[in-house]
Amino acid sequence: MNDSSSDVVIVGAGPYGLSTAAHLQNLGLEVRVIGTPMRFWDENMPEGMFLKSEPFASSLGAPRPGMAFTDRHPEWRIGQPIPLETFVAYGRWFAAEAVPGTEPGQVTSVERGGPSGYVVTLSTGETIATRTVVVAVGVGPFAHIPDELAGMPSWLVSHSSAHRDLGLFAGKEVAVVGAGQSALETAVLLADAGASPHLIARRAALDWNTVPSARRSPRSLLLGGPRSGLGTGYRTWLWSQRPGLVRHLPQRTRQRIVRETLPPAGAWWLRDRLDERVQVTTGRHLAKAAEEGDGVAVTTVDRTGRRLVTEAEHVIAATGFVPDVQRLTMLSPELRVRVDTRLGSPILTRDFESSLPGLYFAGLAAAATFGPVMRFVHGADFAGRRIAHHIIRRTPRTRVPARRLESVLESDAGGR
Ligand SMILES: Cc1cc2nc3c(=O)[nH]c(=O)nc-3n(C[C@H](O)[C@H](O)[C@H](O)COP(=O)(O)OP(=O)(O)OC[C@H]3O[C@@H](n4cnc5c(N)ncnc54)[C@H](O)[C@@H]3O)c2cc1C
Repeated sequence: MNDSSSDVVIVGAGPYGLSTAAHLQNLGLEVRVIGTPMRFWDENMPEGMFLKSEPFASSLGAPRPGMAFTDRHPEWRIGQPIPLETFVAYGRWFAAEAVPGTEPGQVTSVERGGPSGYVVTLSTGETIATRTVVVAVGVGPFAHIPDELAGMPSWLVSHSSAHRDLGLFAGKEVAVVGAGQSALETAVLLADAGASPHLIARRAALDWNTVPSARRSPRSLLLGGPRSGLGTGYRTWLWSQRPGLVRHLPQRTRQRIVRETLPPAGAWWLRDRLDERVQVTTGRHLAKAAEEGDGVAVTTVDRTGRRLVTEAEHVIAATGFVPDVQRLTMLSPELRVRVDTRLGSPILTRDFESSLPGLYFAGLAAAATFGPVMRFVHGADFAGRRIAHHIIRRTPRTRVPARRLESVLESDAGGR
């Protein structure tokens, strides 16, 4: 027996969940959005962090103008990094304006059944019958710790997303594994907090992005290609602005561009902050980790096979996120088995629907289908619009004001 029912339940109130909800609510659908707005950003990213994405590429998707990050903060220019708290406040303002009534709490289970197709159970114990579930749980459930470090106790090894307050490590020796922005910024913030960080990277050398110039000459535009939410270049523009086309590329090509677009590199503004306070070791592969005394001994191997042991009081794996439907434990075992996947990611239609009708996935879980932009906030408007467009079509028309339906169909057809 269900406590209530709803046209749509959205699991997660990050940029993708909120953007999808904004488009759906604007169309008059009854939507329950479960999750505290911007919770992952607020609780699982380190204090003092700045966004790597440019202001123009850091907007949630809204059905009406005036809600982009740069509308809220017109003073923010290209090359001016956004502080984490400014972005969290923007996301929460967006939620209050465009998605009133988000519900704090968690979805504890989604299963097939009930009169509508799915039953969603909340942490409050309430159950909701719904025909449509949008899984917008972001990157958190997919935090990846390499096998060599997995299995160690959490007081010795943790993922970078486990930390908001790096001040806990003041006075401690901390090994940070990785070479992307998250690893580099974690190491710098650890040093700022009074810890002694040691960055261990597989790459032969650290890579840094260059300073973007606000104005570009016609020659630079022609040779370098247009600027887009994922950076500069013709192909990058395509992946950023036309994710619907990316879906038609062969699967191996999509896999490659997801992997290779924006490879691990630090933001230009972080470069000077990575100074002698951070010990850096590059060209090292993890071999094993073992408890030693009160800390952990990390063994790495270089290209010649030479072994090096690094001792630390804690290891932070800033080693990214790997989508895998099996890790979405709030989906019932039956759903996890029945959703068609490839290499762990759900196989999605042009409208982000999985092989189970009415079950949609947005965000990182959709990157294998729509390409690298789904790893970033910039993809949220495309995803939200597409999903809303499709849900509205399969929901009884009586609920949808005709004028609003026309407007979403028009905007969806326009250029996307
Ligand atoms: C350190 C770091 C820095 C980043 N910097 C940038 C950047 O500068 N620019 C950029 O574009 N991208 C950046 N990203 C990527 C960023 O995470 C994604 O672009 C963005 O968060 C995707 O939005 P989302 O809604 O899919 O996920 P999220 O923002 O993770 O939102 C998902 C939400 O779902 C909630 N949730 C999960 N499970 C449940 C459940 N069972 N019930 C209810 N709620 C649930 C989570 O609490 C979370 O709040 C960064 C990522 C990291 C880790």
